[in-house]
Amino acid sequence: MKQFYMPTRIVHGEGSLSRLKEFVGNQDHVCLVTDKTLVGIGVARKVMDLLSDIGAKCTVFSDVPPNPHEEVVEKAVTQAKKAGCNSVIALGGGSPLDVGKMVAFLLTNPGKLEEYQWDNRPTDAPMAKLINIPTTAGTGSEVTATAVIISRNTKKGIKRDDLFAMVAIVDPALMVSMPPHITSTTGIDAFTHAYEAYVGLGANPVTDAWALEAMGLLIEYLPRAYVNGQDMEARENVALAAVLAGVAMDQAGLGVIHSCSGPVASYYDVPHGLSNAVFLPYAVSYNLIAALDKHVMLAELFGMDTSGLSRREAAGLAVDAVVQFLADLEIPEGLYDYFGTDEDIPKFAQSACDMFLMKNNPRKPKPEDLIPIFEAVLKR
Ligand code: NAD
Repeated sequence: MKQFYMPTRIVHGEGSLSRLKEFVGNQDHVCLVTDKTLVGIGVARKVMDLLSDIGAKCTVFSDVPPNPHEEVVEKAVTQAKKAGCNSVIALGGGSPLDVGKMVAFLLTNPGKLEEYQWDNRPTDAPMAKLINIPTTAGTGSEVTATAVIISRNTKKGIKRDDLFAMVAIVDPALMVSMPPHITSTTGIDAFTHAYEAYVGLGANPVTDAWALEAMGLLIEYLPRAYVNGQDMEARENVALAAVLAGVAMDQAGLGVIHSCSGPVASYYDVPHGLSNAVFLPYAVSYNLIAALDKHVMLAELFGMDTSGLSRREAAGLAVDAVVQFLADLEIPEGLYDYFGTDEDIPKFAQSACDMFLMKNNPRKPKPEDLIPIFEAVLKR
């Protein structure tokens, strides 16, 4: 193992939001970065009421859309600076969490987001205090040192050790309002993190342990959370899986799924979890022969009977299991409604091969290897 570094304190479990008072004081002026849905359904109000009880000031920035662009970060930073904020609470799915990270960072560091995103400008000062409170169970952004922001028509992660939050409060009670399709697609996002961390070249014994546990929990509990959003045991375990998978992928890296879904999501406005989910069966099928034993393990994690089979045959059962898993969660097989033109396909295939995430994949595709996959996923 080369290195494992994850300094964020994780507070997990139903009701854990009430522990916010341990991490915020009355000297704090919090910028609460969230989105309109969470304001509308009263989730943001819960946090604001707790801050008021503590005596902390709060300025709300709720203009974060799914798959945020750099302009959103700039707007939020301007508002937070003008209000005199000295700390950030990021509340929401991965989109508000990623914007919140960059707001906390740019409150104490000069210059623009793109200097850090594209030019790798070094950090000047530790970022402002950051508390992450996820309301989806998928991205794992609450525990990663990564913020994914679209800039220059590219979905680009900014990854640096400075972006780890002080604490992640993971309260499944904040997730029960997720409708089934958001529950399933965000949950599969977590599965893709764990899968890519597990089979990728950066995997190590620690990340394998986190990734395997995450996939096991998702196989057992994600269908339950999907069919009954009020099932708190299921919500709690899916939220835990997202954390485990997030840590695993942040440490071990990603691969072909995220390399393919990145270009698609940069050009089409596809929900992040869905854009990963549709590539999952193709990735498992493509990667099989490069990591046979790990795919045998995956098949067995799904409960497939591998007795008497060759390793190749047993590994192949992982594809069947994943296809069935996605079907049970009623996840669409493709992104047909989002498809633009035929010219997009070779462009996406080339971009996917050029993605740095692809370096971690156990098998290296050429653009012509990916074209049939993009055709199957995009064209009906
Ligand atoms: P999201 O934050 O974009 O939210 C999707 C939708 O779900 C929004 O409409 C939101 O309002 C709604 N929602 C969120 N919580 C809800 C709740 N409790 N009840 C009802 N509705 C709720 O979705 P996401 O999938 O969590 O995040 C995707 C973003 O995260 C993408 O930009 C992706 O690139 C990024 N990401 C970041 C990391 C990282 O490590 N930083 C990892 C993976 C993905």
